[in-house]
Amino acid sequence: MADKITINDDSTLNVSDNPIIPFIEGDGTGVDIWPAAKLVLDAAAGKYGKTIEWIEVLAGEKAFDATGDWLPQETVDTFQEYLIGIKGPLTTPIGGGFRSLNVALRQLLDLYVCLRPVRWFTGVPSPVKHPELVDMVIFRENTEDIYAGIEAEAGSDEADRLRAAIHDIFGRDIRADSGIGIKPVSKTGSQRLQRAALNYAVKKNRSRVHWVHKGNIMKFTEGAFMNWGYELVREEFSDVAVGWDDCGGDPGDKILVQDAIADIALQQVLTRPAEFDVIATMNLNGDYISDALAAQVGGIGIAPGANVNYVTGHGIFEATHGTAPKYAGQDKVNPSSVLLSGVLMFEHLGWQDAADDIIRAVEQTIGEKIVTYDFARLMDGATEVACSAFGEAIVERL
Ligand code: NAP
Repeated sequence: MADKITINDDSTLNVSDNPIIPFIEGDGTGVDIWPAAKLVLDAAAGKYGKTIEWIEVLAGEKAFDATGDWLPQETVDTFQEYLIGIKGPLTTPIGGGFRSLNVALRQLLDLYVCLRPVRWFTGVPSPVKHPELVDMVIFRENTEDIYAGIEAEAGSDEADRLRAAIHDIFGRDIRADSGIGIKPVSKTGSQRLQRAALNYAVKKNRSRVHWVHKGNIMKFTEGAFMNWGYELVREEFSDVAVGWDDCGGDPGDKILVQDAIADIALQQVLTRPAEFDVIATMNLNGDYISDALAAQVGGIGIAPGANVNYVTGHGIFEATHGTAPKYAGQDKVNPSSVLLSGVLMFEHLGWQDAADDIIRAVEQTIGEKIVTYDFARLMDGATEVACSAFGEAIVERL
């Protein structure tokens, strides 16, 4: 008998050895990467007497072909009910009424954290000299900021009314042919993200947390984000963490919380990666930083991700790359992104042993230079294998 994952009042999860987990296979290369990832996830869980009952839910092209709807209500309801799910990449419908299906899912389930761990696996081709120093976890705010989607097109009635209001309130004139975007950053939205980052740092024995922001320029949004972060440390985490200014940079055995201006941070994650550990930042900064960091350790073919609401327990773990349609159905692309998202999901469920086993097996497989095309073209002496064969090679090494 398989069981639903449920959440307790203190936001901890109840996960049996036979949980039901909904999945979206994904469009394009989803047909290739999902079966390869599932093979590994099932084998690793099986080693510990666990069996996942996967239930398929539809989104994207597969949903549109079957139901005429890109994101059927049934899919959203299923994720609502079963809390935790995993998904492959989805085509962004052109003129489908959605900005993006991924964004729609995040908004509908209020998945306020975009979690992107970035670490290097021995042997993965990297453009930097010391990729082994890269081990960071990014907490990107997922619901606010200039990405909230509140925009007025140049010349529209909305833009004209906004320009008039800005003239009234600020005495400032915006050019008549301007598009206007709104950047809301709330204390509630900032602190729930920062709380998740701090809790994660405590749980995973991480030593530093950085608030990354452009508060020097955008004082009441990004600067406020920084201030609210330090305030949260003092009010809720003073037993385990301390802000830089409150300890002169010497935190003792507590977690050191500091901040960095986003442009400098983007330099320093390259030049001094060992100094960064957990990074919490707003939506737009987080988007840039996540992909820039992923590039240091092998790019989007291997970068995992998750969108989580730590209060309601909802989480969707997902490949961070797109559907790569030109490779669809060729059994060619790298399944690591969705597989490692599954590893992240296992860790979230408390299945650390199975997660660790997969990481070890992936490391060993890549270490033996058994890789898909994307890595093979950058490595000397590699054995290029198909997507499915890469999954099988990992299972053999579990
Ligand atoms: P993409 O699908 O990510 O592909 C861009 C390139 O990234 C590919 O040509 C390939 O590079 C590399 N790549 C992607 N997946 C890979 C994998 N599994 N293994 C190895 N290399 C991989 O981006 P796109 O072509 O811009 O977007 C295609 C569609 O995906 C669009 O509809 C877009 O909206 C959607 N999309 C969805 C998501 C999501 O669901 N999370 C995210 C981004 C985009 P090479 O050709 O150089 O080998």
